[in-house]
Order: sequence, then C-alpha cells, then structure tokens
Amino acid sequence: MGDCIFCNTVEGKTKLEKVYEDAEVVAVVHPRGAVPGHILVFPKKHYQVFEIMPDYEIGHLFDVVNKISIAVFEAIQAQGTNIIMQNGVSAGQELPHVVVHIIPRKEGDGLDFQWTPKQMTQEEVSSIELKLKEAASEIGEFEKEKKKEAVKVEGKEEKKKPADEEEKDEDMAKQLERIP
Ligand SMILES: [Zn+2]
Repeated sequence: MGDCIFCNTVEGKTKLEKVYEDAEVVAVVHPRGAVPGHILVFPKKHYQVFEIMPDYEIGHLFDVVNKISIAVFEAIQAQGTNIIMQNGVSAGQELPHVVVHIIPRKEGDGLDFQWTPKQMTQEEVSSIELKLKEAASEIGEFEKEKKKEAVKVEGKEEKKKPADEEEKDEDMAKQLERIP
C-alpha cells in the first residue's frame, strides 16, 4: 500500500490536486490522460479489485462518478463522456487500486474506443445467456450499509451507551442468533 499512487494522493503525498473529495471517494485530473480533462475517481480505501468493494461503497462511487461527469460537461464543455473501468490485469488494470476513468469527449477528438463488431451465432448467444442467467440468479440482496461493528467487551466496567448503541446491541443479538 505504501507506494500506491492513489493511497498516497488520498494522504496528500502526491502533487495530484483533489478536485473532489468526500469521506469515501476522491477525484483528480489525470496528469497523463487520453485528453485534457480525463478524470480519475477512486475510493479512499485501497481496494485492489472491484469485487471486494462493499455494495454501498460501489453505489456511492458511481454516484460521484455521475456527478463528476456532469461537472466535466459543464466545466470543459464536453459533448459526451466515456466512463471506463479496467477491472483486472487482463482488462488493462495497471495498479492494484480500484479506479474509474471519466474521459470527456468532443466530436472529432480523435479518440477511438471502437471495436469491430463480431457476428455471434445463435448458439453462442444462447449458451452465454444460459450460463449468465444461472450465475446472475445467485445475486442476492445488496448490502445497503456498513455492517455494525461488534461491541467490544472491555473489562468489568459498565460503559455508558448512547441511545443508538442499544439498537446496535439488538442487531448484535440478531447476528448471534444466526450462529449455529
Ligand atoms: Zn491504494
């Protein structure tokens, strides 16, 4: 983590200026981007891959991505944005820290994200549909908020608890019930 440019940026140890920051997410201008105004949006926590991010943080990350994209339209008169993630080394991910790229687009900007369309056979499509439906059927509920942290038992002293702590206790009790 020590030499991660994103983590170091979060801590203010790089020259990258934060153009947006909240409790979980930071956005900076890419110093070597595809075009001027290429923005990087990333979580403050060092998540190496997308898959390990909690749902609620992914939700927030993309809320921010959308707002920054809107800001890019306004600030630098983009006519469109490409929003790209390189998820995994095979997809071109170079650094082990989740990042979303926002690339402002203008007509005739010379960027090329085109690929040659490949005609799939009906069998190929059907086979993938089948496998994907099966895998997607295992998607359960989305995690909406942080898991409540376990209450630490410290010594014998009775600690005073604020009202909302009691709610946590109830949740703890529910969690305990699930343990076989
Ligand atoms: Zn990092």
